[in-house]
Amino acid sequence: MKSKRTNDYIFCLGIESTAHTFGCSVIQFDLIKKKGKIISESRSVYKAPDGAGIHPREASRHHLENSPTILRQVLMQSNLKPNEIDLISYSAGPGLGPCLRVGAVIARALSSFYDIPIIPTNHALGHIELGMMLTKCQDPLVLLVSGGHTMILAFLNKKWRVFGETLDITIGQLLDQFGRYMGLASPCGTTIEKYASQSSKKYSQLPYIVKGNDVSFSGILTATKKLLDNGYDKFNICYSLQETAFAMLTEVIERALSFTEKKEVLIVGGVSANNRLSNMLKIATKRQKAKLYTCPIHYSGDNGAQIAWTAICDNISSGKTIKVQNAFIKQSWRLDSVEVNWR
Ligand code: AMP
Ligand code: MG
Repeated sequence: MKSKRTNDYIFCLGIESTAHTFGCSVIQFDLIKKKGKIISESRSVYKAPDGAGIHPREASRHHLENSPTILRQVLMQSNLKPNEIDLISYSAGPGLGPCLRVGAVIARALSSFYDIPIIPTNHALGHIELGMMLTKCQDPLVLLVSGGHTMILAFLNKKWRVFGETLDITIGQLLDQFGRYMGLASPCGTTIEKYASQSSKKYSQLPYIVKGNDVSFSGILTATKKLLDNGYDKFNICYSLQETAFAMLTEVIERALSFTEKKEVLIVGGVSANNRLSNMLKIATKRQKAKLYTCPIHYSGDNGAQIAWTAICDNISSGKTIKVQNAFIKQSWRLDSVEVNWR
């Protein structure tokens, strides 16, 4: 028999496992004040060997091995028993199949055993919804920059519409692939930021490719690898890479701002932790008389709270849950195909 602690709250467990991170979080939603609060959050990040990328099977093994500990930690932090959870959500995509399956299997098992309603959540939507909840922005132009995404989005008629995106690799892939070429362990964004700030700021010309409001980063990757092969200083290459790639993103954001006349810009995704990127965007948004909101650094990367919060928004607005036998994963689930009924 389910024993809810009070009828004034909903407790939602979110499970994230799209790529390198296995994360869980419980959000408490106050049904009277209509406010959510993260009451627990824990995660474990799969580390590939130096110079290597994510191996999906190895990452999924990491998720499986670490899931009992992470799950136990969030339940203890939130002071809840599994049967006191009201809603379970998991990242259903986009992501790596073997990794997604781990989160979905755990969510399904808990849902069937404890008879808890289940909701699949789009991971990219999770980045945006949690970013909006934490920064309290209302109607932003969004820059989603992560390992799996480089997109500029604005909300219109129940969907996040894509204003621009990468034509090839994402900004996270550019940073991680170049970092790995230097022999670093993935993810490499933080170390590249550190190297860039320690450089003598000697700029090397790199391919600057903006087509309309889309960007292309693969030319920068080839060119930076060549510079490294030719003995150029790695600190200055990191500096040049950041200056070029971030200037491209800033250009497309500024153009989209001027076109949409939005007054807010929100950066979400793991790369939003980068200070140089946010400083460039701050200048451009100020010029367009808009305000920049950055997702707090702890929640900029993948985490369970983004999944829990999005599921609460979905469930509160529509009462939606699905049958556990329909709790599938969708590896290529595009954000702009998701109907958002709570905005
Ligand atoms: P996510 O997929 O949202 O978890 O984001 C992971 C991506 O964020 C990886 O590609 C990381 O290299 C990147 N990242 C993390 N911290 C930073 C940083 N300080 N600067 C640039 N990229 C970063
Ligand atoms: Mg992500």
